[in-house]
Amino acid sequence: MNADQRIRGIGMTSARTRDRLVKRLREQGIIDEKVLAQVRNVPRHLFMDEAMASRAYEDTALPIGHGQTISQPYVVALMTQALLEDGKPEKVLEIGSGCGYQTAILAPLVGKLYAIERLAPLQVRARQTLASLNLLGIRMRVGDGWQGWPSQAPFDGILVAAAPEQIPEALLDQLAEGGRLIIPVGGRASQELIKITRKGSNFEKRSLGLVRFVPLVGGSEG
Ligand code: SAH
Repeated sequence: MNADQRIRGIGMTSARTRDRLVKRLREQGIIDEKVLAQVRNVPRHLFMDEAMASRAYEDTALPIGHGQTISQPYVVALMTQALLEDGKPEKVLEIGSGCGYQTAILAPLVGKLYAIERLAPLQVRARQTLASLNLLGIRMRVGDGWQGWPSQAPFDGILVAAAPEQIPEALLDQLAEGGRLIIPVGGRASQELIKITRKGSNFEKRSLGLVRFVPLVGGSEG
């Protein structure tokens, strides 16, 4: 297989298989056509080991090594849709970028994207995969998401793909006026996905349902 064929996919990674996933997400209530088009376009199989590729378009989280997972497509779509529903955010911070799948879905839909991941080997691979898809201009760094990215704040959107038990104060501080934070909050078993919108000194909160993410590891545990 040449690089082009690998990106396009065959059999269980083909365009038809991806169409079925999109249909399923639609049935589950994803209505933003830009988001659905991204799920259709981004070859999720390239973000995981080849041994797992045949399962890439199942709507489930899958292991990617280092005790981490690639997020479930429905949850990626739900979070992205929630981030975009008030208009296109110019400056966005993604925390826990892992293999880079969510990054790839998000990058073309926002202005400038900043991504933080705690584990360097995942970050290195994510960079390579994103570059192979011509997704350039994303600022990525290895670091602790609890702190956000102070030197680049404020952000119009912050999306967190790992769950803290409480919302990190720094992330609220780094929201621009009208900015929104999409974050799973809770213990290990399951978490509530929350959307917070900053309105002056108020933070409006809305629940988007229950989800299951790996924990947002505290800086000192890393
Ligand atoms: N966004 C990924 C899924 C990531 S899984 C996707 O699209 O599939 C959650 C990621 O959060 C893991 O890679 C984990 O290493 C990372 N993570 C956990 N705690 C973190 C922290 N404090 N700062 C940055 N990244 C963290």
